[in-house]
Amino acid sequence: MKYGILGDIHSNISALRAVLERFRNHGVDRVLSVGDVVGYGAAPSECIALLREIGARVVKGNHDAACVNEMDLAYFNTYARTAVTWTRAQLSSEECAWLARLPLTLDLEDCSVAHGTYHRPERFDYVQGESDAEASLDRLPTPVCFVGHSHVPIALVRLEDDPLRTARAEGSEIDLSDVRRALINVGSVGQPRDDDPRAAYAIFDSEEQRVVIERVRYDIELEARRIRAAGLPPVLADRLFHGV
Ligand code: ZN
Repeated sequence: MKYGILGDIHSNISALRAVLERFRNHGVDRVLSVGDVVGYGAAPSECIALLREIGARVVKGNHDAACVNEMDLAYFNTYARTAVTWTRAQLSSEECAWLARLPLTLDLEDCSVAHGTYHRPERFDYVQGESDAEASLDRLPTPVCFVGHSHVPIALVRLEDDPLRTARAEGSEIDLSDVRRALINVGSVGQPRDDDPRAAYAIFDSEEQRVVIERVRYDIELEARRIRAAGLPPVLADRLFHGV
């Protein structure tokens, strides 16, 4: 089975379309999303509709939760809060119901999915280093879990011959054949924050036991114009060009 894994789309429809085009080229069988479909960008309904159309399995991110009143906005910075308020006004009650129904985690045959950590998904904690991954790796029912939230790709693994030590896997290609457990942040489709403005996503081939994190260019200018025209804070458009 070939999985295409993406997340932190943040209402960026141009970036989402570009990633789904790459999934088609790869012959992806199933699309999984690590959450934050909405928030920041100007095309929330379009992104929800496209994910539903392709039958993606999606977990709930903190911005998704905030847009359906499940989170205190005090947790968000000014720009994020403005975007959440704007997004709430755009969504139909049917779209809100879809967001509200999203699960916090998914356990599939070959992998699991969460937004922040796997072991405490409702806290939306960040996985940015080895220590953040320990508790999730202890609890995983499957060999690999895909997460998002920090908008920075990273892979944390425990090898078969050294299962008590968690280490960072270098490079964008992760060979899972000698890995006991892995927690992989697939980066962000719609608002990367690792100084690379291209949309990030992962391809997981369960037969080959291989994950590759890739990037694809999209029309940032178009998406930035959409954000400015919507009256959202201009910084949310500007940051897309820099990947910050
Ligand atoms: Zn996010």
